[in-house]
Amino acid sequence: MLKHGATGLALEGAAKGAPKDAANVRPCAATKAVAVLAHEGALSADLLRVHGEGKGLVGDLLGGDLSETAAKPLDFASLLIDWQLVHGRHHLPWQQTREPYRVWLSEIMLQQTQVSTVVAYYERFLQQFPDVLALANAQQDAVLALWSGLGYYSRARNLHRCAQVVRDVYGGVFPSTAATLQTLPGIGPSTAAAVAAFCFGQRVSIFDANVQRVLARLLAYGDDLSRQAHVRALWQLAAGLLPLQEQREKQEDKQEETQGEQQGTHKEKHACMVAYTQGLMDLGATVCMPRNPLCGQCPVRALCRACAQGAPLAYPVKSSKLKRTAENWWLLALHRPASGHVSGDFWFEKRPQTGIWAGLYCLPVFAAGADEARLRTAIGNLPERVCTWHAPFKHVLTHKDLYLHVVSVQLAAGADLPAALVALLDDRAGTGAGAGITGAAGAGIGTGTGTGTGTGTGTGTGTGAWHSQWQQLGLPAPVRKWLDGLKM
Ligand code: SF4
Repeated sequence: MLKHGATGLALEGAAKGAPKDAANVRPCAATKAVAVLAHEGALSADLLRVHGEGKGLVGDLLGGDLSETAAKPLDFASLLIDWQLVHGRHHLPWQQTREPYRVWLSEIMLQQTQVSTVVAYYERFLQQFPDVLALANAQQDAVLALWSGLGYYSRARNLHRCAQVVRDVYGGVFPSTAATLQTLPGIGPSTAAAVAAFCFGQRVSIFDANVQRVLARLLAYGDDLSRQAHVRALWQLAAGLLPLQEQREKQEDKQEETQGEQQGTHKEKHACMVAYTQGLMDLGATVCMPRNPLCGQCPVRALCRACAQGAPLAYPVKSSKLKRTAENWWLLALHRPASGHVSGDFWFEKRPQTGIWAGLYCLPVFAAGADEARLRTAIGNLPERVCTWHAPFKHVLTHKDLYLHVVSVQLAAGADLPAALVALLDDRAGTGAGAGITGAAGAGIGTGTGTGTGTGTGTGTGTGAWHSQWQQLGLPAPVRKWLDGLKM
């Protein structure tokens, strides 16, 4: 493993083109990796220029002029592109378009979510919101309802806000550079790079967790990627692996030739950057997997330092892992059955705009402690036959396990909420007991006070309301699943 005591400053210094005191700096993993790959011809001339015109710090490590080595045919980009064209994924719905709206939508949906899950959501979403203006003009509730089940709901809220910014600031047209794209809500640097590369052919590298893993192994990059300075240094190396201009032209000509033989096809725009970017994604998802890298099938095996060391699993190095926590939540399922022409319904509240399940509709939530005690007292005073305590179940969030305990209360069809339950919901709001549930934002979770018309299909008080068409609401996945499982 390439390990060092210094930070990535050596690289940063070199990147500024003034590594005058480089001889006094111990080489970092990034610099050593540049040297190794440059020696093998895997790096582009651009990165070598960044590292001091082929001399200086990296040149010293190699003991020669690096510019000559960059022309070797065995370069990372070519290997990756050739492999992607033959073995990569080409059938996914978002691969059939270079429309920024669709590419962006797929990139956001794919964050933390498996391809197999995303496909159905992606198609449903496009049916309802076929373009960025349709999405921008929608109600947030409608967006969250379609997102329901995909999890990480901040993505949906940001998606909606981003569409509105594209509509209001950019006249409904997505910006074409990664630098501008990443100023939009919910678009991070790697997503911006993906959209810019796929849709506009910009020569920028994606850098999500999968790509970080692949490149850390390829370069045997031993610096701790829990530190942002090291992540930035590795990303700088990723830029040096991008296809060269000549490769791009050659690739695009090759593709044009192939397609020219097939009537009715059009030249793929930005073919080289598309294949390269998709190749990085495919390599991380299907070959260089976290626990089970398939080095025997890897197109860049000949260049891979971690594989040469026989230690792919030693990379990436990440020292600090977030500690998981656990919480117990009690959910109150208030239900009125159908009667005659009146539909059955459940009582839902709108969650605050921050914290877990922000902005979604939910069964009233009670935190462990005082809220839970009040809930137990109120339920204890109701006739036993109308109350059911259901077996708790676990819902896994990114860094937290939620143990959900549902208690259901069956009311008469069309009945008003009993005064004791109204007080229960209001008291909880009055004590601000929801702060523990909603996390850092510390907002309450209660129903508020006063009467008014509820949202959607129901009526009620404050943010709470009866809803008969609850299937159409944006609900947290475990709540929807629990409700779906009821035999009614
Ligand atoms: S050779 Fe193995 S460790 Fe290296 S990039 Fe390929 S799959 Fe990953």
